[in-house]
Amino acid sequence: MERRTKIVATVGPASDDPQVLREMIAAGMDMARISLSHGTLEEALARVDRVRDAATAQRRIVGVLADLPGPKIRAAEFPDGGVHLAEGSVVALVPAAAEDRSDGGRIAVDLPTLLVDLERGDVVGLGDGVIQLLVQGVSIDRATVEVVSGGWAQGRPGVTLPPGRATMSSPTAEDFVLLDALAGKVDAVAVSFVRTAAEIESARAAAGAGGPMLIAKIETQEAVDAVEAIIGVADGVMVARGDLGIRCAMEDVPHYQKHIIRTGVAYGRPVITATQMLESMVRAPTPTRAEVSDIANAVFDGSSALMLSGETAIGQNPVNAIRTMARIAQRAERDFDYQGWGRNLGRQLSAAADPVAANDRITAAVSAACWRAAMDADVDAIVACTNSGATARAISRFRPAVPVLAVTPSEATARRLSVAWGVTSLLADRHATTDNIVRFSVNAAVEAGIVNPGGLVAVLVGSPADPATDTLRLVRV
Ligand code: PEP
Repeated sequence: MERRTKIVATVGPASDDPQVLREMIAAGMDMARISLSHGTLEEALARVDRVRDAATAQRRIVGVLADLPGPKIRAAEFPDGGVHLAEGSVVALVPAAAEDRSDGGRIAVDLPTLLVDLERGDVVGLGDGVIQLLVQGVSIDRATVEVVSGGWAQGRPGVTLPPGRATMSSPTAEDFVLLDALAGKVDAVAVSFVRTAAEIESARAAAGAGGPMLIAKIETQEAVDAVEAIIGVADGVMVARGDLGIRCAMEDVPHYQKHIIRTGVAYGRPVITATQMLESMVRAPTPTRAEVSDIANAVFDGSSALMLSGETAIGQNPVNAIRTMARIAQRAERDFDYQGWGRNLGRQLSAAADPVAANDRITAAVSAACWRAAMDADVDAIVACTNSGATARAISRFRPAVPVLAVTPSEATARRLSVAWGVTSLLADRHATTDNIVRFSVNAAVEAGIVNPGGLVAVLVGSPADPATDTLRLVRV
């Protein structure tokens, strides 16, 4: 069977070559992530176009996720290839001027109030927390810092100040401008550093009802504390372990990962587990054994998707990183407890104020019945006939052992389902009756080779005029 856990891969300078992108798709990239924290909007939009072209060339459905910068403080760009900051060396931190750059002796920080916010004795983190800088003194034009934990500084690394300094809400004014510029161009947008459900709601108001999926990045303690409310109003969630591990106690990260995944699944939302999954492969051809175990455990935890960041954006061999992740995930899936997962699942939750909750409840109840029937009748596949993708997500949360095919007339829905666990999407014409939707969907499953003549299929379907999925049929092909 095909891999069920999806792969989100970040596209960057290492993956701008159209041939590399095509190979990344062939190796298993289901969704491309484009970080708006690096480079210009024009560069990001050019990347979106290249991903779309590569997907068309490979005849594959690939979603595009744009990741908003959010209120993250960043250092100005380091020279190509990065700079090694050696332990014990002394460096200047300065507020960045326009078009500023960083180097090994002077780090320009994108925060005008930097010298007011810092004081002697503070520890400032750079990048994913590996590099730590101890503030020795602050003068009128610089903070002098000693590198107490060294490492490679590359691109525009994040700068983490001690808790409580320089906190801003998300989305930022810059994020709103980007949301507007991205309208109709991407399938999903990741909202960085959210702390409340209201912040997702303000992004939703700006993106509009038919706008992209909103993925809430959980990367602060406040977001962990409000995770149910945030997930209730988001369309998906990301365990953003890099920043989470800087802003919360590092040893809490694996526990938060499990909690966020369980909450996401309870609400029927796709959950992306992200960051440092194959970090060593930025430079090396094979992963560490700890990374292999981390990926397998993220699969056992129930992640819908796994994400690659620097590995595919600036790494030595993006295609190899995806291939490696796909192999590890597929192996882990062989030992996934499919029956136990579904048995332990409670009813699907929804935010109290959600106006579509009533329809979702019907869809969720029929999907639960489908999961049970699929096992009892020993079906070969489940076909979810879906307009918005809700039916496919509702059955996906049960992690059925058999293939799940989403048959949809909407290309946008198919691309959004590229992060839904175990769902393969197929485009189909619209039909006027439930009988015809079932007939043509089952035919599509046969043509796609997902089920053979004589096989048994569980079909989830509604009537064309009704937004809820209220029917389960077991169809002998
Ligand atoms: C993270 O912090 O784990 C993350 C995904 O965010 P970013 O890479 O955008 O900093």
